Amino acid sequence: MLNIVIFGAPGSGKGTQSDNLIKPYGLFHISTGDVLRDHIKRGTELGTTAKAYIDKGQLIPDELMIGILASVLDDNADKASKGVIFDGFPRTIAQAEALEKMLKERNPGVSAVVGLEVPEDELVERLIKRGKESGRSDDNLETIKGRLQVYHSQTSPLQDFYKQKGLYKAIKGTGSIDGIFADIKAAVDAVL
Ligand code: ADP
Repeated sequence: MLNIVIFGAPGSGKGTQSDNLIKPYGLFHISTGDVLRDHIKRGTELGTTAKAYIDKGQLIPDELMIGILASVLDDNADKASKGVIFDGFPRTIAQAEALEKMLKERNPGVSAVVGLEVPEDELVERLIKRGKESGRSDDNLETIKGRLQVYHSQTSPLQDFYKQKGLYKAIKGTGSIDGIFADIKAAVDAVL
């Protein structure tokens, strides 16, 4: 079983590269951003709560987010039999600790953390472009700046958390999508 955390700042290419990883490794993809946006679209109570945080560029509270992830894992246990790509989770140390516990109860734990590293100015450029194309409510300059701050204060400490466990694989997240994927594939194959 292969459990990959795809890690990086907003706009670092986590979703794009997750799509590339699904097929060759037979993994189940969980994008917490997509899960939340689906709730918003369906007008659920959770969606209403999540939208307030997302539109401000803030994180959904840990306790709520951990519960959501656990239920997605439980609901898809069959599809996730070969492993999971965690995209957008964990985003805080508390979430990483909860993930460790959840995986211990269910299967062998995180196999590797693929960290997509992209300079800040390129992140901002990509997110503004994505906002124009997709109309995502959180891809506007003000919210982008807030999300990058949240990333630096709450999420980037996870780099050291996973480095200490020997799980962090730094990947240069700039250049061609195929070139970046080739680097990711080499890093993932090395832990198989
Ligand atoms: P991006 O990586 O571009 O910020 P995502 O689609 O992964 O986009 O996430 C969008 C928003 O959803 C985040 O800014 C945050 O508000 C919320 N979110 C997603 N994943 C989490 C998480 N693990 N914990 C808390 N909030 C989350």
